[in-house]
Amino acid sequence: MYQAFLVKYAEIGIKGKNRYKFENALCQQMERTLKPLDGEFVVERQQGRIFVEAKGDFDEEDVIEALQHVFGISGICPVNVIEDKTWENVAKGVGDFVEQQYDKLDFTFKVESKRSDKHYPMTSPEVCVETGAYLLDRFPELRVDVHKPEVRIWVEIREKAYVYSKVIKGAGGMPLGTNGSAMLLLSGGIDSPVAGYMIAKRGVFIDAVYFHAPPYTSERAKQKVVDLAELVSKYTGPIRLHVVNFTDIQMYIYETCPHEELTILMRRYMMRIAETLAKKNDCLGLITGESIGQVASQTMQSLAATNEVCTLPVYRPLIGFDKQEIVELSEKINTYETSIQPYEDCCTIFVAKHPVTKPELKMLHRSEEKLVGKIDEMVKTALDTVEIITVGE
Ligand code: ATP
Ligand code: MG
Repeated sequence: MYQAFLVKYAEIGIKGKNRYKFENALCQQMERTLKPLDGEFVVERQQGRIFVEAKGDFDEEDVIEALQHVFGISGICPVNVIEDKTWENVAKGVGDFVEQQYDKLDFTFKVESKRSDKHYPMTSPEVCVETGAYLLDRFPELRVDVHKPEVRIWVEIREKAYVYSKVIKGAGGMPLGTNGSAMLLLSGGIDSPVAGYMIAKRGVFIDAVYFHAPPYTSERAKQKVVDLAELVSKYTGPIRLHVVNFTDIQMYIYETCPHEELTILMRRYMMRIAETLAKKNDCLGLITGESIGQVASQTMQSLAATNEVCTLPVYRPLIGFDKQEIVELSEKINTYETSIQPYEDCCTIFVAKHPVTKPELKMLHRSEEKLVGKIDEMVKTALDTVEIITVGE
């Protein structure tokens, strides 16, 4: 008898003829996540299930934690594999499993069974009844409750026999790589890492761009964004973080345009540059952490103004979320503590006392006319001098 993990997946089960593509992508991501761990792992597909067989010394908790970062997995079940599936051996194996998993053997239980080996001499109901009888005999304090058991014990008879009783919640979503790539505008705040996580969860690979404004934003602020990208990459796989030097553009807008329009004009230039980088990297959309009404630059009018300069779709997965809901998600994905470190991002330094909350496109166009020429040069320089930092490899 040895240990393995049975992986259950939800949505990819319904993809019809394309199902194998989703399963392949899922297996690939599982292999990637398990690679750095101690032990040797074989990821194997078997009739609508994926098994991870573990060899050598490994840490069960590490394996579960790693698999909990893989999108497309709905549940993870630590299973024992019983190689010799003669009935006596299966019964004993199930008993040993129960003994090993539970300290106190005084709960109510129900045995559930599934048999994909149709030549097996017992039917599924027989396996349930016989296993139940064996367990009652071996552990006299156990009781059967077929309606509301405290523990469900699953016995599956396939090429080998499998027993498990716990389903640990997975990350859900779709396997990475089943839905193309998108470019995340990643700041040092709470929102954008969560936004990246949410789009990646739908099977999308993530690239990222950060607008850095030295010396107004410190090296430490940049490092914080790199750290956040690293944390997000635990779910998304490697991220190529593009660091754009935004200082000259920001200063020029500051000197040339009305201060109350500064944030919104800056945001429009960020979106333009992000879109150029996105197209260069075959990304099919942009991602931001915006949410309606959160700040002046996120009113419906401001969002319309930032949206106007993009031709790619802009995905804003947090659009209807309250701050508290976003905070809870950031705690869940472990980015919160890093996000709240007090390093300035480039927007907080240049903010006007009274930023426009209802920018008129006509006014913005007029302001931007004053910038043409010189600012196009600056945008070109910013694009030519992008620094790329790859995290999560
Ligand atoms: P966050 O917590 O994500 O920083 P925020 O509440 O501070 O968001 P804004 O500063 O208005 O909101 O930014 C809105 C969105 O614009 C961010 O979620 C992010 O996607 C993007 N963004 C803002 N500043 C930067 C930056 N310096 N580099 C890259 N993206 C940025
Ligand atoms: Mg911010």
